[in-house]
Amino acid sequence: MDRELLKKRIDAAVEELGDELVEFAQGFFRIPTQNPPGNNYWECVRYVGRMMEKLGMRVEYVEVPEDRLAELAPHGEGLPRISVIGTYPGAEARPNIHFTGHYDVVPEGDGWSYPPYGAEIHDGKIYARGSSDQKSGVVSELFALYALQKAGIKLRGTYIASTTPDEETGGQAGVGYLVEQGYLNRENTDYCVVTECLNVDNICIGHRGTLWFEIQLTGRQCHGAMPAEGINAAEHMRLLLNAIDEKIQTLPEMNRVSELPIDPPTSRRTTLANTYVHVGEKVNTVPGFARVGFDWRITPEYTVEWAKEKLFGVLEELKATVPDFKYEYVEFGRMDPTLVPKDTPVVKAFQQAGKDYLGEVPEFSLSPGMDDQRYIVHQGGLEQCIVYGPGPLYIAHKADEFVPIEDMKTSAKIMALAACDLLGVVE
Ligand SMILES: [Zn+2]
Repeated sequence: MDRELLKKRIDAAVEELGDELVEFAQGFFRIPTQNPPGNNYWECVRYVGRMMEKLGMRVEYVEVPEDRLAELAPHGEGLPRISVIGTYPGAEARPNIHFTGHYDVVPEGDGWSYPPYGAEIHDGKIYARGSSDQKSGVVSELFALYALQKAGIKLRGTYIASTTPDEETGGQAGVGYLVEQGYLNRENTDYCVVTECLNVDNICIGHRGTLWFEIQLTGRQCHGAMPAEGINAAEHMRLLLNAIDEKIQTLPEMNRVSELPIDPPTSRRTTLANTYVHVGEKVNTVPGFARVGFDWRITPEYTVEWAKEKLFGVLEELKATVPDFKYEYVEFGRMDPTLVPKDTPVVKAFQQAGKDYLGEVPEFSLSPGMDDQRYIVHQGGLEQCIVYGPGPLYIAHKADEFVPIEDMKTSAKIMALAACDLLGVVE
């Protein structure tokens, strides 16, 4: 079948399925899967699993065993963590493509004009917490396959779709667990698409790295009228924050604007944000303890090791020069930046399909934060893994989150046509 015909047939099939797509999306968005703690997960995966069954997929539920919940979902209050994977075998097992998106949502918060789980439609947009980020991506990945079936297009390779929990709290019990358990890696997967909300006209090829840490300073408490009797942790905090300003924030590496298209542009460099300072409580008491937290985001030009080397340089210098300076370093999380090559078949297929339905080749972007792509690329060793999904990025986590219905449909068309390119079509 020639490309023009494929494109037309997919287009018509998605349009024909439009009402059903909206109905499915509304039902999905109405299940409040707030995380933390992780509400209604079984109800949600069953809902998606039923659609997978309807599409003739082989459906597998993957549940984190109870004895690992405390480790993989520490804020999950012991609630179940389940992923669902649907496999639609083609004429041949390989190549295959695996689309995966998370179904957990951040708590709704305040300031909504519409009920946050009402999935009301206004002006062609569906409003709900999680509509953009990123249940919409899961809707598109399923309706892409549905449209192929409706259009009578038979894939040569195998189409896999999954939805996972816990991306909003780190993803260890979601994609992290699937990768750990061998469901998704370079041995068994040829192409992977994480269907996060990075805009319908963007192909995301990576994200910045992360170092989350706290520095604890221990002094000795004493009376404020006799400060020489103690060791002032507030003073040490001041010295530490000054040193970070003078010796880290001014580094050329910290001020180098990345050439990579990180979105938004204000995050197009390595940023070190001071996220909390806790020290002292009484006006007449010299504090004996202080702690300070930092969120360091690192562009792909650098590594977490580079950041730690700079940090420890500052800490050790203070220790050597300030009497009684005593520090403890506590690390909460670290992940090197992710960046996949631009010239792989998966990228090209999405560029081409994007051009076919959008009229323009999608732009490249990198996410300012991190997402589940990192597990698949770093732990799973799969290079051909991109992030592509319909949700508008800017509205994620905000009040009045929405997804345009048209974007879910366009994204489904692009996914379907790219799958034809990558997996081949049986004539
Ligand atoms: Zn997300």
